Amino acid sequence: MFPDRVLSGMRPTGKLHLGHYHGVLKNWVKLQSEYECLFMVADLHALTTAYDDVTVIEKSVWDMVIDWIAAGVDPAQATIFIQSRVPEHAELHLLLSMITPLSWLERVPTYKDQIEKLSSKDLGTYGFLGYPLLQAADILLYRGTLVPVGEDQVPHVEITREIARRFNHMFGKEPNFAEKAEAAIKKMGGKKGKLYEELRTRYQQEGDVEALESARAMLADTQNLSHGDMERLFGYLEGGGKMILPESQPLLTSASRMPGLDGAKMSKSYGNTISLREDSDVVAKKIRQMPTDPARVRRTDVGDPEKCPVWQLHQVYSEDSTKQWVIEGCKTAGIGCIECKQPVIDGVLAEQKPMFERAQPYLEDPTLVRNLVADGCERARDLARETMRDVREAMGLGYD
Ligand code: SF4
Repeated sequence: MFPDRVLSGMRPTGKLHLGHYHGVLKNWVKLQSEYECLFMVADLHALTTAYDDVTVIEKSVWDMVIDWIAAGVDPAQATIFIQSRVPEHAELHLLLSMITPLSWLERVPTYKDQIEKLSSKDLGTYGFLGYPLLQAADILLYRGTLVPVGEDQVPHVEITREIARRFNHMFGKEPNFAEKAEAAIKKMGGKKGKLYEELRTRYQQEGDVEALESARAMLADTQNLSHGDMERLFGYLEGGGKMILPESQPLLTSASRMPGLDGAKMSKSYGNTISLREDSDVVAKKIRQMPTDPARVRRTDVGDPEKCPVWQLHQVYSEDSTKQWVIEGCKTAGIGCIECKQPVIDGVLAEQKPMFERAQPYLEDPTLVRNLVADGCERARDLARETMRDVREAMGLGYD
């Protein structure tokens, strides 16, 4: 079996903000110590919508990686790489496009949604229709079995699974599969090979699921088999073919909605953001200028936190005692809005302080970030080459 690998990415289309931190990066930081993680600068994806203004992509790539590191992504634990520097992404995308029915792409819910949302852009392009397939290629290239997503992106993982299933069904039957599987059994050694045969027979003839589980566990423990042989033997157990592209699973992340400066979701398109590494004076100014409950015209007017965007930020940044102070102070006009905003300012600045510290060495020496990304691209390419060797061979392109 392939190891649990997590693949996730972000488009380099501008500065990252606290919405990215709370919505995605905090989760990446957690995942990197639990799984093998690959974090990708999705520059090819950025081109699907920003093809008419490519300068923003180039400008954002390095800065975005520094933002990731600032947020706590650790290049010693996770592989950080740029999608276009691993050309196998484009190759797998192309090869998968040969077997992907158009209707699968047209029915992805975000396709029509995005076309409507970004109506000022011409998104009637081949690249835009194919972006879920490019995403599928991204995931399948690393045989990444886990994809961290929110509820709304589950259909993207589902299409990836359908494509993998279709691919394995069409191409997993390699010539002489049974002979190759039998040869692989011999490589396991006499005792283990015999046990594998017994367990396989028990499963296939008697439907003994425990035997199947034992055989799987034994295979996963076997050290001296190549990746290809391992996959053959997993497939052979159940009477199927070789599994070339494993089906990925969504790793559901809890929806954490970061409110913006106006109470709506923090998003660049709403102009309500605080950048990850925003200057502290600007942070303070932005929060002091936030709208509040419109009922509080004068200092003496009472208000209701539920009607105030600042209250939403208290939910993110303040302790219970502070929140209690806000509720009482607002409802009795005991505190003014400027006073009420100060703990939020302090909370944001405290959150940003370690981010500035982590980013500093990379800002002082830009070669550091170039080098770590170059290393990450190499690591990613090694994995990608392995998959592509099997994919090419399966599709009849492995002429040697
Ligand atoms: S006191 Fe605080 S919660 Fe109440 S309106 Fe002013 S900023 Fe909002």
